Amino acid sequence: MASLEDRILQAVDDLFEKQVAFLGELVGFRTLRNEEAEAQSVLEAALIERGYAVTRFRTDAARIGRHPAFSPATVGYDSSWNVVGRKDAGGRGGRSLAFNSHMDVVPAGSASRWTSPPFKPRRDGDWLYGRGAGDMKGGLVASIFALDAIAQAGLSLRGDVQIQSVVEEEITGNGAATAFANGHVADVIVSPEPTDEQLVRANSGVIKFRLTTRGRPAHPREPETGQSAIDLMIRLMGHLRELERRWIGEAKDKRWFADIRNPVALTFGTISGGDWIASIPSDCVVEGRIGFYPGEDPKARAAEFEAFVAGIQDSEEAFAGGGLVDVEWVGVMHAGYELPEGSPAEASLRAAHRRVQDGAELNAYVMTCYLDAAVFAVHGNIPSLVYGPIAENIHGIDERVSLPSLKRVTKALALFAADWCGVRENHA
Ligand SMILES: [Zn+2]
Repeated sequence: MASLEDRILQAVDDLFEKQVAFLGELVGFRTLRNEEAEAQSVLEAALIERGYAVTRFRTDAARIGRHPAFSPATVGYDSSWNVVGRKDAGGRGGRSLAFNSHMDVVPAGSASRWTSPPFKPRRDGDWLYGRGAGDMKGGLVASIFALDAIAQAGLSLRGDVQIQSVVEEEITGNGAATAFANGHVADVIVSPEPTDEQLVRANSGVIKFRLTTRGRPAHPREPETGQSAIDLMIRLMGHLRELERRWIGEAKDKRWFADIRNPVALTFGTISGGDWIASIPSDCVVEGRIGFYPGEDPKARAAEFEAFVAGIQDSEEAFAGGGLVDVEWVGVMHAGYELPEGSPAEASLRAAHRRVQDGAELNAYVMTCYLDAAVFAVHGNIPSLVYGPIAENIHGIDERVSLPSLKRVTKALALFAADWCGVRENHA
């Protein structure tokens, strides 16, 4: 007779074409910020069909500034829907598990530079292409099909499980924060972000800023009467590289970050300025992000950033007179986390990974970006495992997820769920 594990692994194989089809369906939705609702409805229906009790709730703007998991936002949340599907085991004594994934994706970059349209899934050999295929609809669908496989194998879990599909991960984390604040927690969180089949040991805290410089517009025939907001911004950006270097320099004392070349990654993501080709520009706006180390208060880092910008204004002639620069906080402002070594949850995932990977050990590494797992780890002290498939060009051109990797990850997630929650035979 086949072992329980063999039956689960076989079920993942049997269901995999359906899994890829469902992934393709989700990739077909352009789930940019505040445009996720239609895809969330499709997901909700898929969960209801599978017998989940589904809760649908808006990202909660009222808690911003009042609950520490929430970050500043610059948009309304009227159409910002999160979905949580839940299956209760009816007190059969197993540990609970929540899979957390995000439905939102970042813009395509430059759609015309993609080999095929970014929001049309394209399967080519071992890869599925499309914005979000890797980050992270692949992982979201893997979590659903991992639990499907357990059911298909004739087994029921002994612990309560959740499938969480949240929004806002790519900008504020407020979708996950709402899920957390509404009590959608469990004994372990598993977030199948694209980690190339590795486990995230630690991640960065991140703050996202908007800088505005105010110049003095003028006609180019008398340039000395004006002051260019764009020139001011370029100066300011140059100085901020000093702040980045200073923060990078702190890495040498940080256990998991000492060997990372740039764990801080000051990124200027957008820039706009001026309104006429032959005028000295009056305004320039830059948005960006900068990272820091786990265990640090994001508000303290934000204050340090503001003080640095104020120092530039005080010391540089070009900014004389004051009031030429505004700093706003417009996205995630959240601490990083470290996953403590040796937890029972990690041990279980390691065993599942080895089984699927012919004995190879699970590698742990540091991810220098924001992750929704941080919400649960930092504010709930919940072991949060970020582990997902191989993907390439996430946030880039021709994003793609490896299908063989996605299948292995689905298998590992299924074996993990069975071991963590415990299973029983349906006919027993
Ligand atoms: Zn992601």
